Amino acid sequence: MKANRIYNFNPGPAALPASVLEEIQHSFLNYGGSGMSITEISHRSSWFDDIINDAVARTKRLLNIGDNYRVLFVQGGASLQFCMVPMNFLSAGQSADYVDTGTWSTKAIKEAQILGKMVNVVASSEDKNYAYIPEGIDFSSDAAYVHITSNNTIKGTQWQKFPDTAGVPLVADMSSDIMSRPFDVTPFGLIYAGAQKNIGPAGVCMVIVREDLLNSVPDDLPSMLKYTTYSSKNSMYNTPPCFAVYTVQLVLKWLEETIGGLEKMESLNREKATRLYDFMDSGGFYRPTAEKDSRSMMNVTFRLVNEDLEKRFVEEALENDLSGLKGHRSVGGCRASIYNPTPLEAVDTLIDFMKSFKSKNG
Ligand SMILES: *Cc1c(COP(=O)(O)O)cnc(C)c1O
Repeated sequence: MKANRIYNFNPGPAALPASVLEEIQHSFLNYGGSGMSITEISHRSSWFDDIINDAVARTKRLLNIGDNYRVLFVQGGASLQFCMVPMNFLSAGQSADYVDTGTWSTKAIKEAQILGKMVNVVASSEDKNYAYIPEGIDFSSDAAYVHITSNNTIKGTQWQKFPDTAGVPLVADMSSDIMSRPFDVTPFGLIYAGAQKNIGPAGVCMVIVREDLLNSVPDDLPSMLKYTTYSSKNSMYNTPPCFAVYTVQLVLKWLEETIGGLEKMESLNREKATRLYDFMDSGGFYRPTAEKDSRSMMNVTFRLVNEDLEKRFVEEALENDLSGLKGHRSVGGCRASIYNPTPLEAVDTLIDFMKSFKSKNG
């Protein structure tokens, strides 16, 4: 049993800012002087209205999003978006381009195909076990949208620069890197992100959608699967996951008021990732799996010389209060997820541990 909080490198659900958890603890029994917990108040109350409106406003400010976008909160995780996107935006006779950069994009493709939609996989990095982000892609000029996964949580790769799709709207699964860096939102038709990696707890998915695209949502979809249902009811057609939205609001407030915005966040994230990659590049004992120009700032995937040693590494790390370093079960190896809330100090402590593990086993 651990008496104290430890360094958490979990891939998701993942570390949250300690100050956010403390604020939740502080106001848990009596939210905002209501005499009730956030988990007990109505989603139709002015308390919750203020929470969801503030979360939307902060999202728009942080990402510098224009008034022609809507910010929605949907349940079902990022995985539900894999089918909602084609259901809403891909009508009969239309096709969409997908880039396959591993696990999550592969699943997005599969879900669109289950619906019988026309999907063009215009590029894939499967040939090298998804260790890189494809470049120089030929997109179809008549595609309804181009789907990418901005950060590949399991394979440890990340788009450094988003592709030019010549006006075709980009749709991006940003589950594991939303709010980690500033970017130009204007080429995007829709962005979705399960909250539990970088902006909150499990149970809610943020969706940012360009308003004009909502006009083409078919009428004959079930209400809960239509973006228009969420946009016309401020994400409160039915009961939203109030606690999850509240936590997201607090994380966004932390990003704005404590960190000071996404430029600052990016430079902190870059510093963390650079320290870790530089250390591994200098030694040879730990081998990063992603190609250098595709490396993720969020999920640092690496291998040791054999699986036995990897297992020992993960176990001994945990004994040293460094948790969550096992690679995804589908790829093996090791992975340090260093999302926004992970402090630099956690990365330095990890590097110190890696040095001593290496000197004992190298
Ligand atoms: C974790 C993850 C998902 C799956 O998210 P759920 O909310 O569990 O459905 C999808 N895409 C990416 C990039 C992820 O990291």
